Amino acid sequence: MTGHIFGRSTRTSPPVAVAGDGCYLIDADGKRYLDGSGGAAVSCLGHSNQRLRQALHAQLDRLAYAHTGFFTSEPAEELADRLIAKAPKGLERVYLVSGGSEAVEAAIKLARQYFVEIGQSQRHRVIARRQSYHGNTLGALAAGGNEWRRVQFGPLLVETSHIAPCYEYRDRQTGESLEAYGQRVADELETELQRLGPETVMAFICEPVVGATSGAVPAVPGYLRRIREICDRHGVLLIFDEVMCGMGRTGHLFACDEDGVAPDMLTIAKGLGAGYQPIGALLVSGAIYDAIAQGSGFFQHGHTYMGHPMAAAAANAVLSEIEDRDLLAAVRQQGDLLDRSLRERLGQHPHVGDIRGRGLFRGVELVEDRETKRPFDPSLRLHARIKALAFEAGLICYPMGGTIDGRLGDHVLLAPPYIISDAEIAELVDKLAGAIDGAIAGAQAA
Ligand code: PMP
Repeated sequence: MTGHIFGRSTRTSPPVAVAGDGCYLIDADGKRYLDGSGGAAVSCLGHSNQRLRQALHAQLDRLAYAHTGFFTSEPAEELADRLIAKAPKGLERVYLVSGGSEAVEAAIKLARQYFVEIGQSQRHRVIARRQSYHGNTLGALAAGGNEWRRVQFGPLLVETSHIAPCYEYRDRQTGESLEAYGQRVADELETELQRLGPETVMAFICEPVVGATSGAVPAVPGYLRRIREICDRHGVLLIFDEVMCGMGRTGHLFACDEDGVAPDMLTIAKGLGAGYQPIGALLVSGAIYDAIAQGSGFFQHGHTYMGHPMAAAAANAVLSEIEDRDLLAAVRQQGDLLDRSLRERLGQHPHVGDIRGRGLFRGVELVEDRETKRPFDPSLRLHARIKALAFEAGLICYPMGGTIDGRLGDHVLLAPPYIISDAEIAELVDKLAGAIDGAIAGAQAA
């Protein structure tokens, strides 16, 4: 049945997902899988949400689609208003697209158009960080610092350079405070700007809490503030990519709210549609919007499905669920429980180097040696073993290998639905611990 799907892998034939039930997915054989990572941090409301079903039926009965070249729509207008009402300071406009890469792509093109329109067309470079992923379309791929994804597509069109990530588990020096470490790595942005010529750089992009490439790594206190100061000093736009960490995942609607720093542009996607519809959004400062409105008058960009009424209706229902069920508080509370449970079960584990994250966005990093933090040999593919054993046991989690810089350990990203119960957290941690032990035993025997 899956034979003709041209998907991630042409080597494997995955089970067929046929139904969803709360935090579980069910395959064609009736096997249940606890969705410990919401797929890839997408399914924040679980898989059988009643309000989403009703909202989508109601929208389908009214209007499925109207092209934005002719119309706006009620759900798209409502969504923009609701996002802006809650957005970090200064973000006043919304550009609705179909996913994360499209949102990042739009951010890069908008940055470029903005500088051309204000007479600074020499600004064309992007600075990002190593150990980063911002999407797979060409501009977003160029921004990302994940060599493994980039290598076969170079030279990439957008000129990007990469500074250090904010990754204190490996990079903070002995005796260095968290704050001092944060200032030191943020100052790499200043150094890189001086190397390139600050007047040639249009934007710096980063995830406030890094997801896929590093496993839920939050910025240390003060880091993002320093980055903001450096961008301001040189007229460089600051883009926060909250495609994975936004929409409540960290216990705040926008992850950067916790750091008290507002960007010039912010991207969201995954949790915005919660998997019920494909949707992403780019939030833009009033200053950028006004410059273009007073210049050429329109953003030279667009996609057929932008502002899709069905997708916007889903996102409005997601926001209503988060508000009415007080899910941000639930994320903080259940996130604390998940963190405590992981620490109790794995905190002393000889091969667990770090447990980190915020809210229901947690990462576990595996190491061969806790003292030296030496990762497992990448050829053992520990992450793939964990993924397979967890899946066999009925747990979906998101392990990644240390493919970035060859120095990051294998890690597992957890991003369960915001409705996860205490018992489901216990099941998640139990199955994860079993998969980690089984995978390490298998790797050591290999
Ligand atoms: N940015 C980040 C931070 C992401 O995690 C992802 C997806 N993993 C993307 C962008 C790309 O989003 P999409 O897969 O929806 O295009």
